[in-house]
Amino acid sequence: AKRQGRNHFHFYSADISDRFHESVTLRNQLQHVLEQGALTLYYQPIVRAHDHAVVGVEALLRWQREDGSFVPPSEFIPIAEDTGQIIPISSWVLHQACVDGIKLQKFGELSVAVNLSARQFSRANFIDSLSHTLNLTGFSSRLLHIELTESVLMEDTNRAFQQLQKLRDRHFVISLDDFGTGFSSLGYLKTLPVDILKIDRGFIQDVTENDDDAAITRSIITLAKQLNLKVIAEGVETPEQAKFVEDAGVHYIQGYYFARPMPLEQLLDFLAENKVS
Ligand code: C2E
Ligand code: CA
Ligand code: CA
Ligand code: CA
Repeated sequence: AKRQGRNHFHFYSADISDRFHESVTLRNQLQHVLEQGALTLYYQPIVRAHDHAVVGVEALLRWQREDGSFVPPSEFIPIAEDTGQIIPISSWVLHQACVDGIKLQKFGELSVAVNLSARQFSRANFIDSLSHTLNLTGFSSRLLHIELTESVLMEDTNRAFQQLQKLRDRHFVISLDDFGTGFSSLGYLKTLPVDILKIDRGFIQDVTENDDDAAITRSIITLAKQLNLKVIAEGVETPEQAKFVEDAGVHYIQGYYFARPMPLEQLLDFLAENKVS
């Protein structure tokens, strides 16, 4: 029912017919992206706060059309979720991220973070297929960071807890993505088996001008530390924002200030030229 609700919201929003046709077209084109090799992964470096050494990367999906234009993931991932195409796409993402992750290891013990959709996370055989991918590729579960949003976990809390616990047992690292945007109670952090909080870009954007954003950012970092979690600030674009989150005690930073998402080839050059932990 929830999924349908989202569709309806799309259909009845401001520019109804445009959006509708656009989404039907995307839906049709999406059917062939995997066979066409139109999907690629970009990688954005994540650096350690105190010395700016690269500690890992986040894999971000890119869909390039034949005319060279990119369809933003924020547009096609919700559609792929609705149609179920997210399942084969996500399997491809996980496999590719592990294959590429192996190539990064010559620079250091670099982690690779992948984003997981709700649909994928709730699948019964998800964890087995994940283990299978690691066996095939030889990538280590300790270096594979699974990024989940609060909304993914809230859909079916009990099941989510079980799945998280299984991932934990197999030494995967779990990050709570877009932290602070989910309107959920902080109490559950106490029992939730997660390792890392990623402060949402929305708080970082104006952190040096907006006192509320500054207070929220500081509080998240303090809270996380007391719960023994690591914190990543994402969306850091300026030296002032980097300094702010560093002074507030953040562990890791990700954002355009350090590096934009880039194709693997470019990442390999980047790692050759920059300090790696
Ligand atoms: P996200 O997981 O929150 O990813 C971070 C987004 O912020 C990325 O957008 C990244 O390019 C962007 N970003 C990073 N640093 C900066 C910065 O300093 N400034 C600004 N303005 N933006 C920054 P992107 O690549 O467009 O991805 C958007 C969303 O699409 C992701 O948000 C994630 O929710 C989803 N997504 C991307 N790849 C995948 C995937 O493989 N699977 C799934 N399920 N979702 C994905
Ligand atoms: Ca993410
Ligand atoms: Ca995020
Ligand atoms: Ca986000």
